[in-house]
Amino acid sequence: MAESKNFIHQIIDEELKPGGRVYGQKIHTRFPPEPNGYLHIGHAKALEIDFGTAEAYGGICNLRMDDTNPTKEDEEYVEAIKEDIHWLGHDWEDRFFYASEYFDQMYDFAVELIKKGLAYVCELTPDQMREMRGDTKTPAQSPYRNRPIEESLDLFARMRAGEFEDGKMTLRAKIDLASGNFNMRDPVIYRINHLPHHRLGDKWCIYPMYDFAHPIEDALEGITHSLCSLEFEAHRPLYDWVVNNISVECKPRQIEFARLGITHTVLSKRKLRAMIESGIVSGWDDPRMPTLCGLRRRGYTPASIHNFSERNGVAKINSVVDFAFLEYCLREDLNEHAKRAMAVIRPIKLIIDNYPEGQTEEFDVENNPKDESMGTRKVSFSKELWIEAEDFMEVPAPKYFRLYPGNEVRLKSAYIVKCVSCDHDAEGNVTAVHCEYDESSRGGNPADGRKIKSTIHWVNAADCIDAEIRLYDRLFTTEQPDLADCNYLDFINPDSLTVVKGAKLESSLADAAPEDRFQFLRNGYFCADSKDSKPGALVFNKAVSLKDSYKPEA
Ligand code: ATP
Ligand code: MG
Repeated sequence: MAESKNFIHQIIDEELKPGGRVYGQKIHTRFPPEPNGYLHIGHAKALEIDFGTAEAYGGICNLRMDDTNPTKEDEEYVEAIKEDIHWLGHDWEDRFFYASEYFDQMYDFAVELIKKGLAYVCELTPDQMREMRGDTKTPAQSPYRNRPIEESLDLFARMRAGEFEDGKMTLRAKIDLASGNFNMRDPVIYRINHLPHHRLGDKWCIYPMYDFAHPIEDALEGITHSLCSLEFEAHRPLYDWVVNNISVECKPRQIEFARLGITHTVLSKRKLRAMIESGIVSGWDDPRMPTLCGLRRRGYTPASIHNFSERNGVAKINSVVDFAFLEYCLREDLNEHAKRAMAVIRPIKLIIDNYPEGQTEEFDVENNPKDESMGTRKVSFSKELWIEAEDFMEVPAPKYFRLYPGNEVRLKSAYIVKCVSCDHDAEGNVTAVHCEYDESSRGGNPADGRKIKSTIHWVNAADCIDAEIRLYDRLFTTEQPDLADCNYLDFINPDSLTVVKGAKLESSLADAAPEDRFQFLRNGYFCADSKDSKPGALVFNKAVSLKDSYKPEA
């Protein structure tokens, strides 16, 4: 077990030893989403690391909305984020926070830094600051760096009071203008922004920068380990500088891990939002979206997402995982746990000429052959059935072993039938297939043990129900639509959704509830749509195919 621990857990193990940084303490992490969009599969990885690490050590994890940026934040997102996290099975109990709750303390810490001579009000415009940031050989400059403490205190108070317009002044930490790490070259820690905040209205017109705010939030909440993605690595010295120079007891440690990327999709909230706004998808929960609510609506289970996140591991190098691996994890879970059912997606009538008119019989069929405890159900059978149109060929192609005149197939769990003829309409299209059944083969096994090459599924035309089926393909036609030098919108797959109306389902599916998941025999795994499926007007999403195109490395 010990060898398989990820590097974060190895660090924590060391720190928990006697004399270690957090010896005797409860491990305390946080998940800090910015409420400017819905969570996606990349966040599932961060959740697994933040909540999962706390759970692994008997610790706790806070949920904190990172709402220090006044723009584009919305209660709709806050509620959706909570719902998605609960759906995955994580809980923050009573530890739900908004970063903006700490604005007063952040302001006080900024004043503390000014008083210590560790921060100053700078009047360079953003353009001037860029021009004066220097390069690897030249230090940055600011003519305001040695401004007297009293003057900075006065100006900072007036910044807060709203005396100055946006961009006129900033508060900068006084660290090291010559640092090889540009984040340490007197970074801006407060800026003026006359924008109302989604929770606090116009209380503030100055807002703290992320690099200043985040370590304070962590420290105030008593976070022991601030786990974040790799892009914050170069910001860690600033994180440490902040917690070490303000009066807080808790000195959390930031540890970075690699972001998850996934093929054939994009994982940036901004890009996902653009696809919704341009009507490419129907919303955040469109079943083609890599959002948690989209995946859920598509048919993904919390277990499949956990397994996916866990197996991807925790590393220090960003990687892009094949979407097929996510599908593999879902297929594996549904194979174990989903009820089986018969559904004919593109139906054609099958008439059993020698079956008595008006007769009905029932077969007891296992709900899941992998799990006896899931019980059996009754499937009815009569003279007229529906089968998949593609299970019949009037003139069989080479190696076609399903129905064609003269050939026998097994109707799953029912009887062996032999095709005798078919009907055509005026244009010559096949309208019905005729066959004769072998009465002695009840249950699907021929009495003489003769070999039957194909088994096909069917539903009873007398009591089946109509449904709409939505079939999905990749949202993007290329593996990495997200590469810097291309426009991801150029790679939208125009055929990512196919709607099939008039599919025929076995009658046991009549009471399928939203989000119920099934294996439709031979067709794949399907999930009753949570928005559009209603009793009497069922809609199913194809979650994943049965075929395993993905081979995980041994
Ligand atoms: P996006 O670019 O999708 O908007 P973000 O990083 O801005 O992502 P946040 O809401 O700030 O999104 O993310 C909350 C947490 O989730 C952060 O700790 C962030 O590091 C983590 N996170 C976001 N995307 C990924 C990803 N693809 N893989 C791993 N962790 C991620
Ligand atoms: Mg962000």
